[in-house]
Amino acid sequence: MIPTYVVGRLTGNETGSYLSLDLGGTNMRVCLVRLLGKGEFTLRQRKFTIPEAYKVGLGRPLFDYMAECVGLFLDEARTDQELLPLPDGRSYALGFTFSFPLNQTAVDRGTLMRWTKSFNLPDVIDKDVVQLLQSAMDRLNLNVRVTAIINDTVGCLLANAYRDPNTQIGVILGTGNNAAYYERIPQITKWTAQHDPAVHPATRGETEMIINCEWGAFDNERRALPRTRFDARVDRMTHHVFCQLFEKMSAGMYLGELLRLVLLDLIDRRLLFDGYSSDILNRPMSVDTAYMSAIEADTTADLEHVRRVLEDVLDMPAGSSTLLERQIVQRVCALIGLRSARLGAVGLTTLLSQREDQLSDPNVKLAIAVDGSLFEHYPCYPERLKAALEVLLGEDCVRNRITLGLAKDGSGVGAALGAMLAEKRR
Ligand code: ADP
Repeated sequence: MIPTYVVGRLTGNETGSYLSLDLGGTNMRVCLVRLLGKGEFTLRQRKFTIPEAYKVGLGRPLFDYMAECVGLFLDEARTDQELLPLPDGRSYALGFTFSFPLNQTAVDRGTLMRWTKSFNLPDVIDKDVVQLLQSAMDRLNLNVRVTAIINDTVGCLLANAYRDPNTQIGVILGTGNNAAYYERIPQITKWTAQHDPAVHPATRGETEMIINCEWGAFDNERRALPRTRFDARVDRMTHHVFCQLFEKMSAGMYLGELLRLVLLDLIDRRLLFDGYSSDILNRPMSVDTAYMSAIEADTTADLEHVRRVLEDVLDMPAGSSTLLERQIVQRVCALIGLRSARLGAVGLTTLLSQREDQLSDPNVKLAIAVDGSLFEHYPCYPERLKAALEVLLGEDCVRNRITLGLAKDGSGVGAALGAMLAEKRR
């Protein structure tokens, strides 16, 4: 539960031009967002590939490259007359989407705790990444100021909140699983134990701050959730054992692996495919969750698409599965997918209940913004999530007061909005 220093609600009537930079796993995206008011905006963006050479070794070449890309983008935007000149002494505000674990000490200050994904630049660890980016941009005289560093869940929440100010939660249901929500500042013990909210410059005059839950790490103590032996096996194969356990039960990166392990178990017990597997099925992490979508979406009488996944993707011999076996494979996918959606609903219900002040008021509408391929592409995922919310919160409440919608602009528009909110408080 990380205080993000992002305070204040959006009305949708904010205006102005703001930049954002998203450092993803393979690509980097630079955006110019023009907020037009009434929840409307225009977006100019360009993707840059991050050369592998910049992901390892020293940090400076990576930050110099990021600054160069921002410079290139600004030149193009100026040429197209999309970037208006600023009055003297002003600089363009930029929101930096940085989805690596950070020790944040201000809305525009955060030291890197460790690299994840395929990055390994040891000299950056424990350094303020905002300062590193700012220095690189200053060396190129770009006249850009990084005013906020934004987690992707926070970006998702803000992007949706600009269109719908009732947005209370932002959730990522993709490779990983995480959420951010608006909390009342006096309730944030991590904050109030250290700061007097009434006088601290980050919160003075504000009542709410966005919390990045990092809920992927929920129940790392293994006391709350009923875990199966397949969950334990998935965990054991990962780099960080006993970490991110909630994520390992529910996120896109792991569902395909859970399916693989359950199928192998059924095969070993000779309940499937006469006890035969394939080299691919035997290999850890060989089943992408996207294939579960294809399996679940199959409505043909003979489960023809399931057969194709088994034979073309998993390399099972032609004609090696019966219809009943394909039905079993489909059913296993449905159980894993359903559990994932239900766990997501549990997390959301917890956050909604945490804001009892809103939940108990029948006149308050609550919007939940979701981003990620699981929610966007996995068949029935939104319906399953909603059905589980109805069980937990009541049908009337969910149908009449809660909306659950896809918000895909988090890292671009959301980070730009974060930059705008931070600049306003400077
Ligand atoms: P990220 O979270 O990395 O920003 P995504 O939201 O696209 O990116 O999520 C990628 C994850 O979603 C991967 O784990 C992938 O296996 C899974 N995925 C991609 N396409 C699908 C699909 N059609 N159905 C289900 N899962 C998918």
